[in-house]
Amino acid sequence: MSGTTARTLGAKKRIALVAHDHMKSSLLAWVRRHREALAGHILLGTGTTAALVGEHTDLQVEGLMSGPMGGDQQLGARIAEGKVDVMIFFWDPLQSVPHDPDVKALLRLATVWNIPVACNAASADFLIESPHMARDYEAEVMDYGAYMQGRVAGS
Ligand code: PGA
Repeated sequence: MSGTTARTLGAKKRIALVAHDHMKSSLLAWVRRHREALAGHILLGTGTTAALVGEHTDLQVEGLMSGPMGGDQQLGARIAEGKVDVMIFFWDPLQSVPHDPDVKALLRLATVWNIPVACNAASADFLIESPHMARDYEAEVMDYGAYMQGRVAGS
């Protein structure tokens, strides 16, 4: 296992919004409650979630593909590339979805890259009200360069 390094999550966070179908109304209600705080950040989301937030609020949200069609994987790739700082992901705890493997992969990458994640409204309240949201935060992540060097040298 290689060492770690720091990645700065800037004061203006890139926040990903994702909600499964039965959770979309909860996410919309949460977004409305925190509209003012969210307006100071950069928002993106899976296709339908992003479109609904755009339609029901005055917030700008970049839309990726819809989750079941690849949106979760696109978002996971952005996380691996260091292009997402926070994820609000209201996944459905009571229903399975066709893209369950993608959901697991997305949550896994968020953990690998140590980004803050909230999976329900209470956690999301705590996260958005954290003082870290409004200033730079140094997240400890795996030193990817050292990781690759170790793998190549060890082969
Ligand atoms: P959607 O995707 O926003 O396009 O509904 C969400 C998801 O299921 O991951």
